[in-house]
Amino acid sequence: MESRVFLLSEAQGLSKELLGGKGYGLVAMSGAGLPVPPALIVTTEACRQYLKRGEVPGLWEEVEAKMAALEGLTGKRFGQGEGKTPPLLVSVRSGAPVSMPGMMDTILNLGLTLEGVEALARAAENPRFAWDTFRRLLAMYGEVVLGEKAEVFEGMLAALKAERRVEADTALSAEDLEELSFRYLRHLEARGTPFPMDPWAQLFAAIEAVFRSWLNPRARTYRRIYGIPEDLGTAVVVQAMVYGNLGEDSGTGVGFTRSPVTGEKRLYGEYLRNAQGEDVVAGIRTPEPLERLQDYAPALYAELLEVAERLERHFRDMQDFEFTVEKGRLYLLQTRSGKRTAKAAVRIAVEMAEEGLISKEEAVLRVEANALPGLLKPSVDRDKAPKPLLKGLPASPGAASGHAVFSNEGAERLNAQGLPTILIRPETTPEDITGMYLSRGILTARGGLTSHAAVVARGLGVPAVVGAEVLRVYPEEGRAVVDGVEIREGDLLTLDGSTGEIYLGAVPLVEAEGEALLQKLLSWAEPFRRLGVRANADTPEDARRARAFGAEGIGLCRTEHMFFQEERLPWVRRLILAQTEEEEREALEELFRFQKEDFKEILRAMDGLPVTVRLLDPPLHEFLPPLAELEEAVKAGNGEAARLLERAKALQEANPMLGFRGVRLLLLRPAIFRMQLKALLEAAKELKEEGLDPHPEVMVPLVADPKEVERARLLAEELFAQYGPIPFGTMIETPRAALLAGEIAPLVDFFSFGTNDLTQMTFGLSRDDAGKFLPRYVEEGLFPFDPTERLDEKGVGKLLRLAVEEGRRANPRLKLGLCGEHGGEAGSVRFVAELLDYTSASPYRVLTARLAAAQAGLRRAPLPVYR
Ligand code: PEP
Ligand code: MG
Repeated sequence: MESRVFLLSEAQGLSKELLGGKGYGLVAMSGAGLPVPPALIVTTEACRQYLKRGEVPGLWEEVEAKMAALEGLTGKRFGQGEGKTPPLLVSVRSGAPVSMPGMMDTILNLGLTLEGVEALARAAENPRFAWDTFRRLLAMYGEVVLGEKAEVFEGMLAALKAERRVEADTALSAEDLEELSFRYLRHLEARGTPFPMDPWAQLFAAIEAVFRSWLNPRARTYRRIYGIPEDLGTAVVVQAMVYGNLGEDSGTGVGFTRSPVTGEKRLYGEYLRNAQGEDVVAGIRTPEPLERLQDYAPALYAELLEVAERLERHFRDMQDFEFTVEKGRLYLLQTRSGKRTAKAAVRIAVEMAEEGLISKEEAVLRVEANALPGLLKPSVDRDKAPKPLLKGLPASPGAASGHAVFSNEGAERLNAQGLPTILIRPETTPEDITGMYLSRGILTARGGLTSHAAVVARGLGVPAVVGAEVLRVYPEEGRAVVDGVEIREGDLLTLDGSTGEIYLGAVPLVEAEGEALLQKLLSWAEPFRRLGVRANADTPEDARRARAFGAEGIGLCRTEHMFFQEERLPWVRRLILAQTEEEEREALEELFRFQKEDFKEILRAMDGLPVTVRLLDPPLHEFLPPLAELEEAVKAGNGEAARLLERAKALQEANPMLGFRGVRLLLLRPAIFRMQLKALLEAAKELKEEGLDPHPEVMVPLVADPKEVERARLLAEELFAQYGPIPFGTMIETPRAALLAGEIAPLVDFFSFGTNDLTQMTFGLSRDDAGKFLPRYVEEGLFPFDPTERLDEKGVGKLLRLAVEEGRRANPRLKLGLCGEHGGEAGSVRFVAELLDYTSASPYRVLTARLAAAQAGLRRAPLPVYR
C-alpha cells in the first residue's frame, strides 16, 4: 500500500498537492540545509480518504512508526520525559496545497499529560514554563478538538488574573498556571469532553480534527472567495516542538525576505521575545520590528539575513517565513511565497528579474493583472486633509472613505443600502471575512503588519490600518472611542492604508501616479501581446488618462453620458417634450453643439487612434426626474413639471432595460441619430482642418436583427455621402444578434461585444437587480463567480464564439472587439485574447488588460495568484 506518512527526509521530490504548502516548504527547507525541527507529514491523500470514509485503515500504525523515527532523531520519547531529557512534544498543523492563512487549526505542545508536565518541569528546571505549556495545550486542544469556545478559556484566564490582581499573563506564577490548568481540566470534564491523558489519543484526535477543519465554514468561505477547489484536502504536519518562551534568549517571529508592502529588498518582519508563535500570528501582543535584533542579538540577525538569502535563492520568490529561537538557537518552522500588495508584486518581479533570479517572462507572469488598478489607488490629499484622528500601522495601501461598521452584519446592512463601509474591529479573525470582503477599508486596534487583518486585507486589495492601539473598540455596542471622540455605526471616516492615518468624515483624495517599475514590467510584457487594448471613455479626461495608460484607442464612448451633464439636461428634456419639428430641431441643434465639442476633444486626445462612438443607447425616460419627484413639483405648482410629468408617464416602462432604447429609439427618432453622427463627422472634419489625424468609428447599440442594421446603415450613408465614410459597426449585445451574426456581419465593418447586456440577457438577470441575490448565489456555490464581473465562458462565451465564427466567415474583414466591463478583467481578457482583435476597458483597467493579454500570449495556462 502507498505510504501516507513521510518524514521530511523521505519526502524530497514529492508534490505540493500531496504534502500541502507547509509540508512542501519544510521538506524544501530541510533539503536546502536550513535548520528545521524534525517532522512527519500526513498527506492530503489521507485527508481525502478520511473525509470520504470517516476513517483511514492502517493510518495510526504508520503514524506510530514515523513517530518512532522522530523519537530517534530528537533523542526524546513522545510524551515521556526521562531524567534531564524532556518529553517529545509536537505541533500539529494543517497545510493545504494552497495557503489559506488562519483558516485551519493548529495545536501546539501536543503529547503533554499531567505526568509529562512534571517531567518537563524537571528537565527544563522551570515549573512555570511547564505549566504554561500545559495550559496552552489544554486551551488549544479544548477549542480545536473538543469544540469549546476560545473565549471560555480566555475568560477563565482573565478571571484568575483578576483574582490575583495582575494584568499581564507573565505575572502569573507557576502555581497560578497549575491552578488554571486544573480549572481547564475540570471544565472540560464537566462539559462531557474530558482531556485525554494519553499522548497517542491526543495525537490521533488532533490529526482527525485537522482533517475535519477542511470543512469548517470559514475555510469554505475562503475557498469560495479565492476560487480554491473544494476537493484538495489538507495535509497534516506533525513537528517536534521548539520553544520560543524559554526566557529572554528565546522568541518567535515572522520574516519576509522583501517588504510585502513596498517590495523593497530588505529583511522585514516582526519578533516577540519570550513568546510562542501563535502570539504573533494572532496579533494579541504587538511585536517589535526585526531590525531591533541588530541591537541586542546581532549574531541572530546576521543568521536571519543569511537564511533570507538562501530561501530566496532556493524558492526564487519572496518568502514569508516563521521562525523560533530556542535558547539562542534558530529554527525555521514554515516558509511560503509571501502575500504582497500589487505595488510590491511589481517591484519584486522587476527587481528579481534584474538580479537574474528569474527571467523577464517569469516576472511578467508573476503579477496578478487584476491587482494593477490597486497600484493606482488614490491616497489622501494631504494639502486639503485635516489633522488625522489617529494613526496606526499602514498595512494595505490605498485610501477610502466609508461608514463605520463593527461586524459582518453591520457591513451587510449598510452595503445593502448602497453605503460603502469601513470595518472596525479590535483585531480580526477568519470569522470576520465577510465584513472584510464587503468593506472599502479595515481598521483594527491590535496586531502587527503580519496579523490576520493585514494579511487578508492585502490579499483582498482592501486598504487597511492595523494596530491603532489608542483606539478602544466595543463591537457589541457598535462603537469605538479614541481620545474622547466616539465613533458609532454609520459615522463617516476616511482611511489611508499607505500612511496608517484615519480621519473623521470624507477627506479629499488624490489619484496615484503611474509607476515607473510598472511601465518597465509592461514594456517586457508588450512583445507577447497580440490582443489590442482600447478604453471605454466618455470624456476627454478619461481619454487622456487611458492613453497615458497605453490604450490604443477608444472602444466605447457612451454618448448618453454627455447628455447627463447639468447644462445639457434641459435641452435633452426639451427634445423629449418637443411637439413640433421646429421644437425638436431647436433642441437638437443645441445638443449638436455640445456633442461636436465633446467629440472634438475626445478625438483630439486620441489623435491618430480609433475612437468608437456609440449612438444613444438608454431609453428617454432615463433623462427625466423620477415620477415621485415630478409629482411633488406639480403639487408645488410648477407648470414645467406638469408637462414633464405627463411625458414621463407616457414614457414609463415596466422593464427599463429592455424597452424603447438603443437602435430602436434611433430608428424611430432618426433626428437624434443624424444629430449625433453629424456632430461626430463634423468634429473630425474640423480637426483634420487643424492638421490632426482623427479616426472616428460609429456603432449602434442593442441590435437584434439584421434589418435594424441595414436601416441604420442607410441613415449613416446619407451623412457619409456628404462627409466621407467612417467605419460603421454594431454592438453584439443581444443573444439574437449573436445567433444571427452571420447575417449581420456583411452589413458592418466591426462587431463590438457588449458583454454587459449580453450577460444579462443570456442569464435573464438585470444588472441593476442582480446585487440583491447574486452575491448569495456565489456564496451558496450556485455560481462559481459573479458573471457580471468575470465573463461566463460556458454560456455567454459560447454565444460569443459562435458570433465570432459566423461573423468572420460571412465577412473576413470584420474587426472584432469587446467593450463590456469584462474587457478589463484579467480572466475574461485571457479568454478573448485569441478570439478577438481588441478589448476595451475602463481607463484604470487598461493596464490590467494589457498585462493579461500579454500573459495570455506568454502562456495559456492559469496565472499564479499570490495568496
Ligand atoms: C454592454 O452592454 O456591454 C455595454 C458595453 O453597454 P452598456 O454597459 O452601456 O449597456
Ligand atoms: Mg449595452
